[in-house]
Amino acid sequence: MIVDRLGRKFSNLRVSLTAACNYACTYCVPDGKRLMKAQNELGADQLLRAVTLLRQATGIDKVRITGGEPLVTPKFDEFLLGVMDLGLSDVSLTTNGQLLPAKKEVIAESGLQRINISLDTLNSLKFKQIARGGDLETVLKGIDDMLELGLKIKVNMVPMRSQNFNEIVPMLDYCLDRGIELRFIELMRMGHLLGDSGFQADFISMEALLDEIGTQYEFSRTHAPYDSTAARFAIRGRGNFGIIANESEPFCRTCTRLRLSSDGYLYGCLSNARRHDLSEVLEMPGHQALPRLQNVLLDALGDKKLAFQGEVTVMKFIGG
Ligand code: SAM
Repeated sequence: MIVDRLGRKFSNLRVSLTAACNYACTYCVPDGKRLMKAQNELGADQLLRAVTLLRQATGIDKVRITGGEPLVTPKFDEFLLGVMDLGLSDVSLTTNGQLLPAKKEVIAESGLQRINISLDTLNSLKFKQIARGGDLETVLKGIDDMLELGLKIKVNMVPMRSQNFNEIVPMLDYCLDRGIELRFIELMRMGHLLGDSGFQADFISMEALLDEIGTQYEFSRTHAPYDSTAARFAIRGRGNFGIIANESEPFCRTCTRLRLSSDGYLYGCLSNARRHDLSEVLEMPGHQALPRLQNVLLDALGDKKLAFQGEVTVMKFIGG
């Protein structure tokens, strides 16, 4: 097993199915242009082979499907059904939810149990301003559809001072009422936000978030697993919420994540643009591919930082 001096190893794999997205969120896409079709991406079969090899090489048994927006690509159905057939201990999906009503059937067929849906606001006008694509009503319908299927849902919200500060509590109410865990993601210095003065103005720290939530709710901090990225809080009799506090409480020292991009590169760290091409490995027979992959993984593990420093690459390319 490959372990670094902090005891970090890869045990969670995030697979980006595509860099394309039907949104152009303000914090992710600087020019507001949606990337409708991405270039040089691997097919579902190649991505599934990569997952199988990575599992053999590392023992990884948790996979999250992400993007870009994973539901926009035609390979979504094949990949989802294929990855569910691998017998992993955990498969989850991160989506903006816009295509969930259209994909309800295949999700039901796949047996997927867990889904994270990104939603920054419950105001339809504000939604258009932040996401710059899609519409709020369809996402809310998608959430209802997933509740109906009995999936365990988390909603991801990026709180920003100039955009949705006043929705922190209403979003929490909405989620608690439905048995959904809301997870606030502290704004990250990715892409154009790295070194941008707007970042500081919009950033809301964990402390400020908790102060705002404390105006309405009493809560206490609860246990989170060793390699969890989220600090978790319980509101007695109502449910839980979490904060992914990459700035206020960085989780880099216990990070176990490995990312596979849709064009076949491995990333060992979200805060490091160094990437490792898998194209040759994927062409090799298994007995040659595995030793080669071990070397690549050792290299990728060395990319992990001790603290989140931000990165020029945006999440839709690395896989959020
Ligand atoms: N399209 C899918 C979605 O919307 O969930 C998956 C990819 S998206 C990059 C994954 C998550 O990253 C979303 O919840 C999004 O809000 C978040 N994200 C992207 N850029 C971010 C940034 N600069 N700071 C904080 N969160 C960010």
